[in-house]
This record gives sequence, structure tokens and C-alpha cells, in this order.
Amino acid sequence: MSEPHTEYANLIDGRLVPASTGLSIEVVDPADGSVFATLPRSAAADVDAAVDAARAALHGAWGRMTATERGRVLTRLSALITEHHAELAALESRDTGKPIQQARVDITACARYFEYYGGAADKLHGETIPYAAGSTVMVLRVPHGVTAHIIPWNYPAQIYGRSVGGALAAGNACVVKPAEDACLTPLVISALALQAGVPPGALNVVCGLGSEAGAALAAHPGINHLSFTGSTVTGTAVAQAAAVNHVPVTLELGGKAPQIVFADADLDAALPVVVNAIVQNAGQTCSAGSRVLIERGIHDEVLERLASRFKALRTGPGAAAPDCGPLISARQLARVQGKFESALQAGARIVARAQLLPDAPATGFYFPPVLLAGLPLSHEVAQDEVFGPVLAAFSFEGEDEAVHLANATPYGLTAAVWTRDGGRALRMAHRIEAGQVFINNYGAGGGIELPFGGMKHSGYGREKAFEGLKSFTTLKTVAILHG
Ligand code: NAD
Repeated sequence: MSEPHTEYANLIDGRLVPASTGLSIEVVDPADGSVFATLPRSAAADVDAAVDAARAALHGAWGRMTATERGRVLTRLSALITEHHAELAALESRDTGKPIQQARVDITACARYFEYYGGAADKLHGETIPYAAGSTVMVLRVPHGVTAHIIPWNYPAQIYGRSVGGALAAGNACVVKPAEDACLTPLVISALALQAGVPPGALNVVCGLGSEAGAALAAHPGINHLSFTGSTVTGTAVAQAAAVNHVPVTLELGGKAPQIVFADADLDAALPVVVNAIVQNAGQTCSAGSRVLIERGIHDEVLERLASRFKALRTGPGAAAPDCGPLISARQLARVQGKFESALQAGARIVARAQLLPDAPATGFYFPPVLLAGLPLSHEVAQDEVFGPVLAAFSFEGEDEAVHLANATPYGLTAAVWTRDGGRALRMAHRIEAGQVFINNYGAGGGIELPFGGMKHSGYGREKAFEGLKSFTTLKTVAILHG
């Protein structure tokens, strides 16, 4: 007998409510394709109710809280997430398909965001400016007001934590639209936020399709800031919608991160990280290291060593703690498979492919990681996100060519440089167009304390770190002439 479906609800004004449409969306387990829950399929009316509740909270208990009190509430939420760590990790793994050990890391990171921003809430302040004689000028740092948060399915808990954590700490009231493909942990954690003392209305979650609830939120005249994490195409659409209301936007979009391995690199340290950077979350990571650029002198050796690592990777259900879980959906599997086949037709060759565990259900969305070489630089798999575990290898000679290849995509999110030459590492860091450059390490997904965001088509604005907290505020200058 199949298990009963859990029916999840929206969280609006502190109450769990179904969608006004009465419609729902099925939640599919990527490991075997079964339906195990339903989500509300919300419409513009639900978004209106959430925005109204958020506005009321700003004028109510939430707006009256001091920064210290807000910080304490968020610190309590962090503790509650930690208390519920095991069940939240199991839920995240089932909802997204990711290996359970990776889901545990994500829940730890989510708790850490609330800890970090809880601690930072009362350390954020404005400044004064020396101005005309007999005057005092204060620059107040104030919350935007109602902030909208549209988040993707690949890291629901982490991206919710970094975005909502910063916004609440700064004193905003939030409306969250998580992704229809995976959004259960944001719902459950938002209910924990009420227990932690976040007043009703200060944090609302509206589930639904991007083209319905998402579009209604992005175009809503009642929001004062929009934080969007997702694809570049949707990012453009939401930024256009928000521009009509002159709403400022943070765009955290895609990437095509290079892992640049020089001949003098410590390969024992580099290669496990290079593999993990593409296999983590089955390559469905904006900062996935999807290109490995190898200096010519060590090219064959590195490919051989990467190949033996790829062959040893196990792909299977997230609950079995494999190296790589299923992709998020049948649609994503078809998309990744299509891009992979197109790469082969364009002349790429398979250097190595990982194994599928024999007990992986045939109805799951599995795509074992693959290492490719010989891909033309202009091919879409070399230029654009695959959002699957496909690593493309290229070779270069010297720093100039490495920089050229690193920057030869429309994206600029993250990059890694592997070398023992300190001067070269710094020269590369200066020349690479990316929001984050890692030297002899790679921090995909982590780094709560490090500003994160892109250049070029990877977006603009920053989340994470203290910088992320500031981006959830605006400035108000008060100039007093007192004689
Ligand atoms: P997506 O753009 O399809 O969806 C992201 C969110 O936007 C979802 O909640 C979706 O419902 C919503 N949405 C879709 N259409 C919308 C519309 N017209 N108006 C308003 N909202 C809409 O992206 P995805 O497929 O869920 O996520 C994968 C993408 O996200 C990848 O490109 C990845 O690189 C990117 N990503 C970026 C970061 C980052 O921090 N830079 C992090 C994770 C993922």
C-alpha cells in the first residue's frame, strides 16, 4: 500500500492555509518518481494576502522589535533547526534527491545562516557625515520594508536561510516563493520560525508555479525589494517585472565555473575537490565546477587520475548516501541527457563515466556523472550550464590562455585556481571575472561569511556575509541645521 500524501500548506499571517484556488501540485520523490506530498498551487490572491500580512507586521509587533530582539529570535530559530536537524535533512534529501550526507550539510548551513544573521542584527548601523556649519547629518540604515524572496529547488534550505536570514535580521517582513520542484524545508522551517518568536506576518511562504505565484510576486506593487535566485532567463523576466514598480532586485543566477589546474598544483589536494565540485548535488549547483582547465604538461596525467575517480563514483537514491543522487525531475533528466548527446555529436568523447548502483529504481531520475574531453569551446555545454554532473576538460598553456578560457563564457560566478606559485595565484585572482575566486580550495555552497554573487550574466548584488545583510537595507539621510 502506498503511503498517504502529506498535504503542505502556505504560511500566511502565521496561519497554515491552502491555496485560494483549491488546487495543488504533486511533490515527486526523484529517487523513484513516486508522489509523496502535495503543495498549494497559489495564485495572485494568495500573494496579495501574504504581502498585506507582511506590511501589517511591519506596523505591528515585528516593526516594534529592537534589533537585539530580532537577533535573539533568529538565534532561537537556528537552535530549533539544529534540534530538528535529522528530520529536516531527511526531508531535504527526499524532496531534492540529494545524498543524505549532503542534505545534512545544507541543514547545518541553514542553521548557521540564522545564527550568523541573528548575531549580526544589532551590529548593523548607519553613520554621520561632517557637513555644513551648525548641522548634524545622520545616515540611517533602514530596512526596505516588504522583501520578496524567489528561490530555486537545488538548495531550498540553504538559499532560504541566506536570503530570509539577512532580510529578517535587517528588520524586513518577508514573502517567500519557493520552487515548485522542492520547497518542503522552507515551509517546515518557517513554521519553526513562529515557535522561535517571529510574529505572524513577518515571514510568509506562498507555494506555487513560477509563472503564477512567482510572476505575481515579482510584479507586486506592494514589495520593496526582490531577492531572486534561479536561472538567468527567469532572472531577466523578474527584473523586468520589478522594474515597472522601481523595486530593487538582487539577482543570483547561473554559472560555468572553471577549475584551473596548473602543472605545479598539489594534485592530491586538487583532484578530489575538482570531482566533488561537479558531483555535489548532481551538478545542479550554480557554482558547480563544470569546466576543468588543465595545463598542457599535466593534461594526460590529470585526465587519467580524474577518470579513475569518476569510475569509482556511485550514483543512487539519496537515502543510500551515494556520491551522486538523482536529478530533480524527469524534465531535468531529459534536459541534461539532451545536452550530453549534443556534446557527443559535436565531437566530445567520454573519458569516464560513473556507475549506477544496481538497486537504483528504474523510475528514478538518474544520470551518472560523466567526464568529457574534446568539446568545442563554442558548444553550449562549454558555454552554458548543463545543471547536471557533466565535467568538460580543456587544456591550456600558461597564465594568459588560462585567463582567456576562464573568462570565455557569459557567466562570472565562481572560479578556482590550483597552483603552488603564490604570485601566479594572485595574478589569476585579479584577472578572472567572477564574484568569488578560490585559491587551492573550493567552497561551492559554503562560506556563510563570504559575500556571494556574480558578475556578467551570473547576476548582481550580493548575499551571504555582512554584505548580504546590508543589501537588505537602504539609506535614509537626515540633515539637521541647528545653528
Ligand atoms: P528557475 O529560474 O526556473 O526558478 C527559480 C524560481 O523562480 C522558482 O521558485 C520558480 O518557481 C520561479 N519562477 C519561474 N518562473 C518565474 C516567473 N516567470 N516569475 C517569477 N518567478 C518565476 O530556476 P531553477 O531551475 O529552479 O534553478 C536553477 C537555476 O538557478 C540555475 O540556473 C542555477 O544556476 C540557478 N541558481 C543560482 C544560484 C546563485 O546563488 N547564483 C543558486 C542556486 C541556483
